[in-house]
Amino acid sequence: MGILRCPVCKNVMIENEQGMVCLKNHRFDRASSGYVNLTIGSKQRKSGDEKAMIIARSEFLGKGHYRPLLDALIQRMKLLPFILGLDLGCGEGYYTQAIAEAFPESSWTGVDLSVDALKKAGKRSHNVRYLAASIRDLPIQDTSIDLTLNIFAPLFLDEITRVMRPAGYAVFVLPNEDHLLELKEALYPVVRLNPAAPEAIEGFETVGFDDVSFEMNLSNQDLLHLLQMTPYVHKSPKESLDRLKTLASLHVRASFRILCVTKIVKKDA
Ligand SMILES: [Zn+2]
Repeated sequence: MGILRCPVCKNVMIENEQGMVCLKNHRFDRASSGYVNLTIGSKQRKSGDEKAMIIARSEFLGKGHYRPLLDALIQRMKLLPFILGLDLGCGEGYYTQAIAEAFPESSWTGVDLSVDALKKAGKRSHNVRYLAASIRDLPIQDTSIDLTLNIFAPLFLDEITRVMRPAGYAVFVLPNEDHLLELKEALYPVVRLNPAAPEAIEGFETVGFDDVSFEMNLSNQDLLHLLQMTPYVHKSPKESLDRLKTLASLHVRASFRILCVTKIVKKDA
């Protein structure tokens, strides 16, 4: 039984070399880099800002600065039985690809709205299925997924609940209070901590969580890439951004919570 759902009529879709087709013959072609575009209408994002962010993120992640997070994520996932995984907001597939390789028995689908990111993702992958679609309205059948992964992507919990199989798992990576504190200190005269990451999410039962914190020694170029990955690049005054550009290097703490939950299965009274 396939997990794919037609974005037009919601019927089951089957996949082949050329792309995907549903029972009612709605067809979606596979791009040369491998992903299938399931966005309908003009919902898909495309902006120069976004391209800059994708390049910066690829460079930054490619240098392994967030590798300790990836390793901790894999350790947590080793505790969970799953085959079908879904990476929500997978971007260029840095995590998706590494996780698919760490769990060779599993089968992964990555979803992102950014075609530019998926072009990169598709090129690096042969065993992950990449879909251009909104994570707000997933082209995925109800109760078909064993494990959803959400790394810094917006949370659409109803949609996660819909696609998770009963007793399936959802894994979230969320920023902790002191995440990128030194970067903020370099930009702002007064710095506020992030809100504390939750230990639970309404409608789900917590399986466990891991706090992962590590210090990165970042070069000037790393800093500029990291900045580009954050909202601070748009929110900071020009003087602050100019000052950051003059820093030769900076120690910056990365601090995440990996929160693993399972769907509460409602029992009949
Ligand atoms: Zn259809």
